Amino acid sequence: MNKTEYKKALKLSLNNKTLVLESKKCGCFYCIAIFPTEMIEKWSDKKEGETDQTAICPYCASQSIIGDASGYDITLPFLQDMYDTRLMQIKRAAANLNQD
Ligand SMILES: [Zn+2]
Repeated sequence: MNKTEYKKALKLSLNNKTLVLESKKCGCFYCIAIFPTEMIEKWSDKKEGETDQTAICPYCASQSIIGDASGYDITLPFLQDMYDTRLMQIKRAAANLNQD
């Protein structure tokens, strides 16, 4: 997955309550799980500047959830791809910090 696609998908995991509730199933790209939307019970508190609350994963409690109403096909390979790209971004950021 390229950086642009990743950033686009990442945006959908934040301020996503409305979109998630329109979805039948959701996926978490932190713990690579797919589950029905009804399993989501927790939402982040809406902070200033945010448009909506953010879904919290019922398994790992991270805010890394994308619903199928986003237009993405929620599959394990898609979630794995998101996970790998995220890890790469973190590693790249850490490498940049070490260069200073
Ligand atoms: Zn999770």
